[in-house]
Amino acid sequence: KKMSSGEIRQMFLDFFKSKGHAVEPSASLIPVDDPTLLWINSGVATLKKYFDGSVVPDNPRITNAQKSIRTNDIENVGKTARHLTFFEMLGNFSVGDYFKKEVIPWAWELLTSPKWFGFDPKRLYVTVYPKDKVTKELWRKVGVPDDHIVEAEDNFWDIGEGPSGPDSEIFYDRGQSFNNVAEDDPENYPGGENSRYVEIWNIVFSELNHLPDGRFVEQPHKNIDTGMGLERLVAVIQGKPTIFETDLFMPIIKATEKMSAGKKYGANAQDDVSFKIIADHARTVTFAIGDGALPSNEGRGYVLRRLIRRAVLNGKKLGIDHDFLYQLVPVVGEIMKSYYPQILANQPFIQKVIKSEETRFRQTLDAGVNLLNQIIAELKKTGKKEISGADAFKLFDTYGFPVEMTNEYAQDEGLQVDMAGFKKNMAAQRDRARKARGDRQSMGSQDTVLMNITTPSKFTGWTELDHKHATL
Ligand code: ATP
Ligand code: MG
Ligand code: MG
Ligand code: MG
Repeated sequence: KKMSSGEIRQMFLDFFKSKGHAVEPSASLIPVDDPTLLWINSGVATLKKYFDGSVVPDNPRITNAQKSIRTNDIENVGKTARHLTFFEMLGNFSVGDYFKKEVIPWAWELLTSPKWFGFDPKRLYVTVYPKDKVTKELWRKVGVPDDHIVEAEDNFWDIGEGPSGPDSEIFYDRGQSFNNVAEDDPENYPGGENSRYVEIWNIVFSELNHLPDGRFVEQPHKNIDTGMGLERLVAVIQGKPTIFETDLFMPIIKATEKMSAGKKYGANAQDDVSFKIIADHARTVTFAIGDGALPSNEGRGYVLRRLIRRAVLNGKKLGIDHDFLYQLVPVVGEIMKSYYPQILANQPFIQKVIKSEETRFRQTLDAGVNLLNQIIAELKKTGKKEISGADAFKLFDTYGFPVEMTNEYAQDEGLQVDMAGFKKNMAAQRDRARKARGDRQSMGSQDTVLMNITTPSKFTGWTELDHKHATL
């Protein structure tokens, strides 16, 4: 019997527990005291306090399954087999404790021992930093043959200043049938853009300190930080072609099918992209709102707004013309309840926020799509290639189209958006909003966000909405 995603997550944590690690719960997606991050985007992001020495952990060995959001991968969602905006990162960490000679045999044991995940070693490839001879030797020692060890210059983790070091990535070979590049293509190797090989795990050896003057010096305390995408691991273990056919997503896709105009997943490649985007975004917004984020026109809130609207538009492509995204919250909650019971516990609130946002967007959606189509038709007629900043701003401000969405639409039609012009319009609007906000505060007006959620008001344009959120 194939393992479920819940069992797979648990097995990872149990393995590292058996190696003396403390199991930490998943932290909130919203960073605490970290202005450098909009969202928690990896397991190590919530453990910075241990690595920078500001907090000393009870146990220097830690393992977790950490909720993560990466918006930089948004364009990949639905197009690659392996990218999501929300995923769980499984990790094990050494805060100045064990290092390479422990972590490599452990990683190999977890992946290949029949007691644990039991992968066929022939399916696994590792990449190493060319100068990191120690790591290469350790992979050899556990039994990885030389033709499964790939040297790559980009296996070096460095954010400019601070801790850095080489890393080693582990790839799963899904076999020749998934090969989408030619035999002699330079991308035809584990780590290249060949969907045959899926990166499942990244092990970072944080052994150097990148100084402001550019030099790299050895750290007195060396750290290990690893990250394995749960969804990719599950796809490989459950033998699925993409992340989306696993038990983490199929119930969401099935529920979406039921609400669609008779669309079926797997029948049409274009529709499948929409199903995948909806399934991904449903999880992201559910968890983000569950952790306290709210849709708005700035920062995290804007990301949420963009995701909800993108899901609504993709729903429309499947013939769904009623509010539906909020109906996927209980489906997500049911799938995740063994590890994240708080989703079902907070379900009414999460649904209310999503539904309110969907309703508002839907009120102007058709008018916006019509306008956009008109603009595109006009450009094509005149042979122009660029949607003006003013038009993009109008779509954003009056019809609620995030500019990135307009851009995606434009690109599908071989057009572009004048982003500089859009930003100029945006800045002018911000100025106006700032002035208006000053007025409101001086009148001592109350925050009305929560009232708006329970009693969706008639859509009056994002300018007004922006003021309300800004007083949060
Ligand atoms: P890729 O090269 O496939 O984009 P990455 O090298 O950017 O992955 P890392 O930053 O090394 O990813 O993150 C560690 C692990 O987290 C990856 O090996 C992968 O299993 C998982 N992961 C990273 N990004 C995503 C994503 N967008 N969706 C799902 N899983 C991800
Ligand atoms: Mg990536
Ligand atoms: Mg990578
Ligand atoms: Mg990586």
